[in-house]
Amino acid sequence: VCYNNFKRIKQFALVLLGDSGVGKSCIVLRFVRGQFDPTSKVTVGASFLSQTLALEDSTIVKFEIWDTAGQERYAALAPLYYRGAAAAIVVYDITSPESFSKAQYWVKELQKHGSPGIVMVLVGNKADLHENRSVSSQDAQEYAEKNNMFFIETSAKTADNINQLFEEIAKRLPRPTA
Ligand code: GDP
Ligand code: MG
Repeated sequence: VCYNNFKRIKQFALVLLGDSGVGKSCIVLRFVRGQFDPTSKVTVGASFLSQTLALEDSTIVKFEIWDTAGQERYAALAPLYYRGAAAAIVVYDITSPESFSKAQYWVKELQKHGSPGIVMVLVGNKADLHENRSVSSQDAQEYAEKNNMFFIETSAKTADNINQLFEEIAKRLPRPTA
């Protein structure tokens, strides 16, 4: 008989923000379904998916994931998703300096209007396209440190660092009380 399998479950709302086309939806689909669909559709408004993650201490974290659309015409809706969020993933594409600037805009927005104590993570996606890299890891790391964020580079295409991204977020969330 195993007496030690009691699991504590905690739910957290999580939001993805960032320019259109940086790979937010692909990151979510890779994490939730373990798939990469290169013909994936542009997100309209926002979409919702959930996924659980078991941590080493036998805690289960359930992420309720809000994947927002990056288009300007939906920007006014973003507060609906990030205001109640325990964590925010701000994504840029390592081949696009414009998307890195846009990520910095979202970080400022979250600092001004996000919940106090929101866990913020900076993600440089499309790390598989390193030959076309135009945002250095060092610049992004420095920016993240200054803004008290965790930084990681991912590839939704190869799955590189996708699980690690969500594990790092889970570690930084407030622990359930026993
Ligand atoms: P979103 O607008 O931020 O949700 O971006 P999508 O997830 O819709 O992805 C936009 C495009 O980038 C699609 O054509 C994806 O196939 C592609 N993409 C997404 N993630 C990656 C990645 O990690 N590597 C590469 N090479 N392409 C990616
Ligand atoms: Mg999308």
